[in-house]
Amino acid sequence: MSQHTNVLAMARQQLAVAAKHLDLDDGLHAVLAQPKRQLIVNFPVVMDDGSVQVFTGFRVQHNITRGPSKGGIRYHPEVDLDETTALAMWMTWKCAVVNIPYGGAKGSVRVNKKLLSRRELEKLTRRFATEINILVGERSDIPAPDVGTDAEVMAWIMDTYSMAAGYTTPGVVTGKPLALGGSEGRVEATGRGVVVAMEEAAKQIGMNLQGARVVVQGFGNVGSVAALLAEEGGATVIGISDVDGGCYNPKGLPIREILQNHIARGRRLAEYKECERITNEELLELECDVLIPAALSAQITAQNADRLRTRLIVEGANGPTTPEADQILGDKGVLIVPDILANAGGVVVSYFEWVQDLQNFFWEENEVNVRLTKIMRSSYAAVHQVMQRHKTDMRTAAYIIGVQRVADATRIRGIFP
Ligand code: NAD
Repeated sequence: MSQHTNVLAMARQQLAVAAKHLDLDDGLHAVLAQPKRQLIVNFPVVMDDGSVQVFTGFRVQHNITRGPSKGGIRYHPEVDLDETTALAMWMTWKCAVVNIPYGGAKGSVRVNKKLLSRRELEKLTRRFATEINILVGERSDIPAPDVGTDAEVMAWIMDTYSMAAGYTTPGVVTGKPLALGGSEGRVEATGRGVVVAMEEAAKQIGMNLQGARVVVQGFGNVGSVAALLAEEGGATVIGISDVDGGCYNPKGLPIREILQNHIARGRRLAEYKECERITNEELLELECDVLIPAALSAQITAQNADRLRTRLIVEGANGPTTPEADQILGDKGVLIVPDILANAGGVVVSYFEWVQDLQNFFWEENEVNVRLTKIMRSSYAAVHQVMQRHKTDMRTAAYIIGVQRVADATRIRGIFP
């Protein structure tokens, strides 16, 4: 069994726990455990040296009962169909937990983008966008950025789709540059939502965030914004990391300075010297008050869960904690704010972006942030309530809400024909 097969098994296991709480009938459970559509594409790209390379990509729509499917596109050398399917399934529950009218999808291309020139990346993106064109559309399936993709990649996808349509279709992707119909606040949205979730959780367990020690794994879009906003909120960020390893300073790392004077100037985190260099494994085991995994899935497992020394985990990444680790940490009294709630800020503002694009009417940043914060807080409160009512952990509570909303919608619509 590959690690990614495990990720899908993990997603199905989480669904099964919620199904049991909800006393979901077997037929409906079977529907929700499967993706609706899975597309595998193999496509050629002419590289800069004239050679041809064939890449493999995926687009999976897990469920579209509550609305068009929504989900990021990931560029990473280890993606596969099972991982993409698990990520699509998580998107379904996430959209339902925060009650936005979308189903779940995910896309991916197996590629190490560091080995591509910008021109090659653009060609790969445009060809992939063309290959998945049969599924994607502003009323059917709307991609967004994920690991390895960004606003520029979204702009290329939007342009490619628009060229085929013959007119400009900003609503076909979210996470676009502002100049093309992107939304104010979208870049920061996931990290901002993570920090709102952290604040709500801190209130719940009586933790003062002023001076609280925060550790963040992953320093990309989600991790860097979460670290910055945590710092601005008065917390002390003592550890950060990226794919090359971690950086630790028990007195706190100057996140804004690292971002402005280091990362923004094209330097790697590994070149930042004012800290102790540690591995990603060591980073996760640092003694802290809040741990924010914001890199890849299956980082907190049965192997290391016992060694974690934190009171609160807020999942910025999708699927960072395995069910075995959930159990171990739960027994230790660690509160885990699950991914489908904690990192939903990204899809919430993606939804705002889509609404703005369809209406051609754009909001100010403050309006976006206020609406985002409101949805994050009320979703957190709803999950907390279910957690108490069902006497369960927070992940199961979030699943109960998400799965119930999708199941209800399926029942009300009925099964065609
Ligand atoms: P990103 O590509 O911007 O950043 C990923 C970061 O993780 C980088 O710093 C990278 O160096 C680091 N990383 C990669 N492999 C690692 C490893 N083995 N160990 C430690 N660090 C590693 O991606 P992102 O958009 O910030 O996404 C991060 C996570 O958040 C993913 O799980 C993604 O699915 C999830 N997420 C993203 C969004 C969004 O809006 N971007 C929304 C919801 C969830």
